[in-house]
Amino acid sequence: MKILATDLDRTLLPNGSWPADAAAIPLFNELTRRDDLVVVYVTGRNLRLTEEAIAHFGVREPDVLCGDVGTSIRKYRDGKWHFDEGWSEHVRRASPRWNAAAIHALVADIAGIRLQEAEHLNPFKQSYYTDHGDRARILAEVDARVKGRFDEAIVYSFDSLDGKGLLDFLPASATKLTSLEYVAEEYGVPRGEVVFCGDSGNDIFPLTAGFRGVLVRNADDQLVAEVREAMAANPALKAYFAKGGYRGLSGYYTSGVLEGADFYGVL
Ligand SMILES: [Mg+2]
Repeated sequence: MKILATDLDRTLLPNGSWPADAAAIPLFNELTRRDDLVVVYVTGRNLRLTEEAIAHFGVREPDVLCGDVGTSIRKYRDGKWHFDEGWSEHVRRASPRWNAAAIHALVADIAGIRLQEAEHLNPFKQSYYTDHGDRARILAEVDARVKGRFDEAIVYSFDSLDGKGLLDFLPASATKLTSLEYVAEEYGVPRGEVVFCGDSGNDIFPLTAGFRGVLVRNADDQLVAEVREAMAANPALKAYFAKGGYRGLSGYYTSGVLEGADFYGVL
C-alpha cells in the first residue's frame, strides 16, 4: 500500500497563472485508480469548497480528505463522505489547552486582521484575513499575545490569487502534517512510502517531515528555498522539484504531481 497525498490549490488544481496541461487531470484520474494506492487531499478547503473543486476541475474524489488545513478528516466510500470522529478525539486529547474563543478574544482587536467567514472556521480552526503588507507587525503582535499558551500552531500563508494574507490558529496536533501522519499510521504505510505534493506556504511542514516531497514546478520561490535549506541541514530529507517532461507534460500543477509520483515509483 502506498499513499499519494497532495495539496489542492495550485498543486493538484490548475488555478494559478501558469499554463495547465489539458491532459493532466484525466491522466491523474486514470493512473491513481488502483487498489494499492490511497489518494489523500490535504487542503485548506472545507468540504463544500473541496466538492466544488472536484466538480469544477474534474479531479476524482480522494480516498481521504484532510480538509480545513488538517483539522478535519473524512473518508470517501461508496459515494459518501464519512467524518472521522476518531481524529477529532485525538486532537482534543493531544492539545488539551486549545481554546479558539480565548484566542479570538486576544487577537480580535489587532489592527489589520479580520475574522474569516463562518464556513472557514470550525472548532479546531480559527482563521483571519490579514493585511499582507503589514504581516511582520501583525505576526509579532499575534505571537506576543498567543504563542505557546493554547497548544496552538500559528500558520501564515499568502493567497497569491487575491493578495490576502491568511492567518490560521490550529491546535498544534491538527495541521496538514499531523493529519497526514495520522492517515499514514491508520493505513500502516511507513513515512518513506508516503508522497506529499505541495506548492506554497503551509506545505513546508509535510514537505520537511520525512515524507517523500514533491514541489510542483510552479511552487513559490520561498517554499523552494525553504525546502532546499531544510535538505541541506538534513540530508535524509527527500524532495523532488518538478521540471516538466513526464509524458510530455509541463510540470505545473497536476502534471507536477504526476511527475513526482512517477519519480518515486507510485504510479
Ligand atoms: Mg496550494
